[in-house]
Amino acid sequence: MSTPIQPGECYLQDIDALAQAQAVDLAQGLGSEEVSRRTHTHGPNELAAGKTRSPWQLLLDQFKDFMVLVLLGAAVISGLVGELTDTLVILLIVVLNAVIGFVQAWRADKALAALRQLAAAHATVLRNGQVQVVPASVLVPGDIVLLEAGNQIPADLRLIEIAQLQVDESALTGESVTVAKQTATLQREGTNALGDRTNMAFKGTTATHGRGRGLVVATGMRTELGKVATLLDSGERSTPLQLRLAAFGKKLALAVLAICAILFITGLLRGENPALIALTAISLAVAAIPEALPAVVTILLALGARRMVGVNALVRRLPSVETLGSVTTICSDKTGTLTQNRMHAELVLALGQRWVPGDPLPSPVHTEALRAAALCNDAARHGSDQDSATAGNAWQGDPTETALVLAAHAGGVEKAALDAASPRVQEQPFDSERKRMTTFHKEGDGFVAYTKGAPESMLPRCTRQWTPDGPQPLDTEAVLQTAQTLAAQGLRVLALARRSHTLLPDTNALEAVENELELLGLIALIDPPRTEAQAAVRDCITAGIIPVMITGDHPATARAIAHRLGIVDSTEAPVLTGADLTSMNDAALQAQVGRVRVYARVDPAQKIRIVEALQAQGHFVAMTGDGVNDAPALKRADIGIAMGKGGTDVAREASSLVLLDDNFATIVAAVKEGRRIYDNIRKFVRYTMTDNSGEIITICMAPLLGLPMPLLPIHILWVNLVTDGLPGLALATEPAERNIMRRPPRPPTESMFAGGMWQHILGIGLLLGALCLGVQAWAIDTGHDNWQTMVFTVLILGQMAHIMGIRSETEPLWRLGLRTNLPLLGAVVLTFVLQMATIYVPALNPIFKTQPLSALELGVCLAAASMMYVAVELEKLWRNRPSRRVV
Ligand code: ATP
Repeated sequence: MSTPIQPGECYLQDIDALAQAQAVDLAQGLGSEEVSRRTHTHGPNELAAGKTRSPWQLLLDQFKDFMVLVLLGAAVISGLVGELTDTLVILLIVVLNAVIGFVQAWRADKALAALRQLAAAHATVLRNGQVQVVPASVLVPGDIVLLEAGNQIPADLRLIEIAQLQVDESALTGESVTVAKQTATLQREGTNALGDRTNMAFKGTTATHGRGRGLVVATGMRTELGKVATLLDSGERSTPLQLRLAAFGKKLALAVLAICAILFITGLLRGENPALIALTAISLAVAAIPEALPAVVTILLALGARRMVGVNALVRRLPSVETLGSVTTICSDKTGTLTQNRMHAELVLALGQRWVPGDPLPSPVHTEALRAAALCNDAARHGSDQDSATAGNAWQGDPTETALVLAAHAGGVEKAALDAASPRVQEQPFDSERKRMTTFHKEGDGFVAYTKGAPESMLPRCTRQWTPDGPQPLDTEAVLQTAQTLAAQGLRVLALARRSHTLLPDTNALEAVENELELLGLIALIDPPRTEAQAAVRDCITAGIIPVMITGDHPATARAIAHRLGIVDSTEAPVLTGADLTSMNDAALQAQVGRVRVYARVDPAQKIRIVEALQAQGHFVAMTGDGVNDAPALKRADIGIAMGKGGTDVAREASSLVLLDDNFATIVAAVKEGRRIYDNIRKFVRYTMTDNSGEIITICMAPLLGLPMPLLPIHILWVNLVTDGLPGLALATEPAERNIMRRPPRPPTESMFAGGMWQHILGIGLLLGALCLGVQAWAIDTGHDNWQTMVFTVLILGQMAHIMGIRSETEPLWRLGLRTNLPLLGAVVLTFVLQMATIYVPALNPIFKTQPLSALELGVCLAAASMMYVAVELEKLWRNRPSRRVV
């Protein structure tokens, strides 16, 4: 006795029975009311979210920091020695620090969550009889999903209709062979493992070939993936820069702790108050250890990534924000990225006669060519039947194909009518390695196959010229020559052919029958370059980045477009083709990649060799791609870039950056943004490290110079709180330096501290120490009792003067203008006001152990602090003196 079918065993059920059970009309899909009802019952089509940190947890995390524990220890020590105000102030500082840390972490989390949301997958679905693209999360059981090669399967589907559909199920089953799908109902056999359920497509797997249509039978956690989902680690990994900085921070912390220990011991030996010297040492450790560095870097990267969305670049992997600045070569597809992908047919050439859309058709061969163009075509009608079928936006699909449909219409050949009269019964879908496709249609008692594709892929398969009166001989060479001439004008040329069959060929022999074809003619399409691409190519070149075009198109078309865009400066520029690549070994290719800017008729699979050859030559490569076969090259490239509009889910998964507008200019904008963010991280490091070194020098040198302890613990903690938090973060909004795209790419292995950063940290830190100690010595000498308040003020204002100076590495502040970074200006002004409050608000004096300063004293402090700014500007002048200028 057979086991009854369990719910969920849809592979054992007939499609019609399933459709009935799901109450859906397979030709129309669900209606909107039904969709909202089902959304209510079944919930969103999402896997339960991985671990996200709640705000409370985030806040609690802030207190787990080692430094905070040290500070809490300090608060206890203060309390024990009777300094209750100190205890309270230290506690307040701990809380404020935690709040700042919390806000930073929360903003970073939110920015990352927003990015993840944007990167979410989409699905093509049939609802209300209309094909629409919706976020995959809104699918409900009963929906009808359309699949094509490159799609990630958005839910568990029972397949209704397929054309050569193959699915990579490795994400679910671990088996890395692709599974050929079918639609027939299966019988129960043994256990029917997931891999054997060939009439199903499962969520999370990807269609690698062909097309299909399926009925959603399970969504969200009820899918097979949901059942096994221990969600992939959704946490972002640390970036290499963060790891390097964290490792560096640890070493630095040890050094600072050693300094503090020496400070403590020498203080004791000199007979200072042990509690005070212990607190001073602890405060110094807290202030000088850059524990916030990795966190601030995350914020700078995450905020940067969010800003990049504004320029249409969606960052999928945070580290690429920092590595974008190192790109030396951008390998870009042509169609849609460098060109507009708004194709239209210029002419049809058959039997030596030209037809231009708009003119009457010269011969029945032209009519038959247009029939082929319309029938061997996957463009889908979009919108209602009343829409004008000739309007460009009435069709959706590949722009090459919509251009063909519109050309056919212009010649009076209507796709909709043809599809109805000669429905497709079989097909061999397009793929960019074969560069052609074939569809089979009923014709009289037999069948006709229409094939279209790249002329070199088609003509060797054509034996004769078709005419209504019977075949004629064909001069293949002459036709190829004509195609070449058209291509050299920047046109994309397709050949159209047909073959009659008495019987429908076997599904496995479809490719074999793409032979002995009868040529119909050539059709030439124009795809104008994007207007902004030319300027972007120029920007690339000035930024020391080599633009390279890699295309599936004809070498002559590719060279003509590359020349128009400025990628090559001669119409004779060398072009390597896929065939050339095949005949070259790796060493030969490496010898060529340095000078070749255009690759044509390249299979996606060959892109990986180009990337590897460039990398072997020391290049840091960004590479674009949109198809399934592009994924390995995207993974191999240093920065893989997928297309957001036209690309496949597989390519997006493999990429680190997604172009929301598929535009080459966006890559260049993203590189610029990446350079800006890296600069700003460097500026933050330069700022905090210099000021920390200034603090250490001030405190440690004072006893050596015979001066009393210049600052109290509370001063040190306050400095740490007000100078690191806001002003540091405001550096994130610093605009790009004017020369940012005129300097060469940064070597990927270059240290963060390259370019004189160490010298700056030590030199300017030493100056800050000298200024503080100088003011201290002067004040003590001249009998100013409030010398401690003066040192405290110089230290804070000196840091503000410093941060204003380092806003640019090359330009003086007066050329940048104060208003170009308002958040930073605001933070500096706020810090100044707070500092004045600690001095001049009487209630705060006992807390901060300060005394009001006279006009002279304040003047001395301001003068000393501004020396910091002057020194930074002089350093810039020295560093950028004409004899050293590179750009
Ligand atoms: P790029 O790699 O820059 O995006 P491409 O779009 O030309 O360029 P493919 O899509 O791989 O690259 O196309 C390769 C060739 O296949 C085209 O030059 C064209 O001759 C042919 N071709 C493109 N689309 C179709 C189609 N829908 N049907 C038949 N042939 C096509």
